[in-house]
Amino acid sequence: MDFRISDDARAVADLCRTFAATHLAPFARERDEQGRFDAAVVRQLGDAGILGGALPTDVGGRAWSKVAYALAMEELGAVDNSWRGFVTVQGSLVGLCLLDHGDATQRREHLPPLAAGTRIYAYALTEPSAGTDVAALSTRAVPDGDGWRISGEKHWITNGGAADFILVFATVDPALKHKGITGFLVRGDAPGLVRRPMEGSELGHRGSNHARLVFDGVRVGPSDVVGGVGKGFRVAMGGLEHGRLGVAAGAVGIQRACLDEAVAFAKSRRQFGQRIGDFQMIQKVLADMHANLEASRLLVMKAAALKDAGLPNQREVSTAKLFATDAAVRAADETILLLGSRGYTSLSPAGRMLRDAKGMQIYEGTSHVQRLIIARDLLGKDEG
Ligand SMILES: Cc1cc2nc3c(=O)[nH]c(=O)nc-3n(C[C@H](O)[C@H](O)[C@H](O)COP(=O)(O)OP(=O)(O)OC[C@H]3O[C@@H](n4cnc5c(N)ncnc54)[C@H](O)[C@@H]3O)c2cc1C
Repeated sequence: MDFRISDDARAVADLCRTFAATHLAPFARERDEQGRFDAAVVRQLGDAGILGGALPTDVGGRAWSKVAYALAMEELGAVDNSWRGFVTVQGSLVGLCLLDHGDATQRREHLPPLAAGTRIYAYALTEPSAGTDVAALSTRAVPDGDGWRISGEKHWITNGGAADFILVFATVDPALKHKGITGFLVRGDAPGLVRRPMEGSELGHRGSNHARLVFDGVRVGPSDVVGGVGKGFRVAMGGLEHGRLGVAAGAVGIQRACLDEAVAFAKSRRQFGQRIGDFQMIQKVLADMHANLEASRLLVMKAAALKDAGLPNQREVSTAKLFATDAAVRAADETILLLGSRGYTSLSPAGRMLRDAKGMQIYEGTSHVQRLIIARDLLGKDEG
């Protein structure tokens, strides 16, 4: 086993670290406090080559390895998970879905602007009454001439209010359960589509754009179908599997940022005549955070390396997401305590990191769901 990172992958990490330091870090606190989605960043991500990082070069991408992609998401996640989340949704959930399941025309029409950041894309699966239970979705695609009319409601859709195109999952026949689900590319300004911000204010990812989408007879044609009629469940699950690696890597970034902040504070803050880092109780916290960070990163890198090698990786990706997001929540929580009152203010990013990490335990399959995936893989089919 070779633990060295290739020069190409390191260059990708360096690129993303510089991007995050220049375009994200100076504004992350303000965007979070104001709940502001700053669309100008999309083009900056495109110009830097980050949005299309995971895509092949013939569609404007950079053909990064999965290891490089994971390092990129760690760098963005260490600074701002609203924007790491944007890259995951646009680049992986939609971009890789279209690469895997789109036809030649869809790939040609959509992937170059997606990679360049000249268009914004969203992935709309979740509904008020169908979250984890995807097969229960009730958004209908009713036949209309050579196409369909979509009616129903989606919520919590990242980029939903800003997207030029939305990959929408609807059923052509609810009785068919998951075999009726079909993916459609819908224009953000399509007649019959109403987009509203989510009610309330989100706990985290406040620099993102989350929307409720109401479809009232939105017309789509045969050329808008992604992956075939009745094949949308596979398309949707494929998108989530691509995205999970980015979420897990982003959670590694959170742990790294928290550990850096905690160590710096433990070295500089003095109480009872000594550095607080010289108290064994503080040392335990730092050592545990370090061990969890290392374990999370190794899990992410193993999952990424399996993907690069074209080997089965579902259990490994779920293990990485489960472990890394749970550890990110603990790391941010411990950092706030370790910083004392200084951790209990937005001047420290730890509070934002904690709120973002909670979201990362929820989307692209909750921590409960990752455990289900892992356990089902361990147990296999009941042969009895
Ligand atoms: C910040 C953020 C961004 C999001 N972005 C998007 C997006 O871009 N597109 C999109 O389509 N969706 C998006 N979502 C929605 C997200 O995917 C769902 O919230 C998630 O799938 C869970 O669905 P739910 O919230 O309806 O919870 P539910 O499915 O109702 O689950 C409630 C609880 O029950 C548990 N549970 C459910 N079923 C089981 C089971 N079989 N076994 C054990 N426990 C179970 C869950 O783990 C959870 O704890 C986003 C959510 C957030 C928070």
